[in-house]
Amino acid sequence: MAEELKKELICILCPLGCKMSVSGDTDNPDDLVIRGQQCKIGRVYAVEEYTNPTRTLTSTVIIKNAPLARLPVKTNKPLPKSLIFKAMEEINRVELTAPVKMGTVVIENLLDTGIDIVTTRSLAALVD
Ligand code: SF4
Repeated sequence: MAEELKKELICILCPLGCKMSVSGDTDNPDDLVIRGQQCKIGRVYAVEEYTNPTRTLTSTVIIKNAPLARLPVKTNKPLPKSLIFKAMEEINRVELTAPVKMGTVVIENLLDTGIDIVTTRSLAALVD
């Protein structure tokens, strides 16, 4: 069943930072009532934040044989906020061994979303 809510939000797409409100049925995005935006892009942002908010998820994973204990990773596309806790469970299972290059895919097609988890830096292996 569709949700009928009201949400207040601030548009982050430009420095004006318009304060907006959105209400209506999440199953009918075209009929949502949106107030406060000063441009069309703001409306698109408000619909997205109201019906399917997403975030780029950043975290770290264990790495062995490296000068650091953990390596930073992130999603290669924004992930639905509702999946963030499940995504963290998957990320917490990852264990890498150096050397690892920046941009290496460490989880492909995370939770069947088509989104990958990739490393955001390189780490060389420890030398004896
Ligand atoms: S609604 Fe438009 S003008 Fe307002 S902050 Fe967003 S992008 Fe900027």
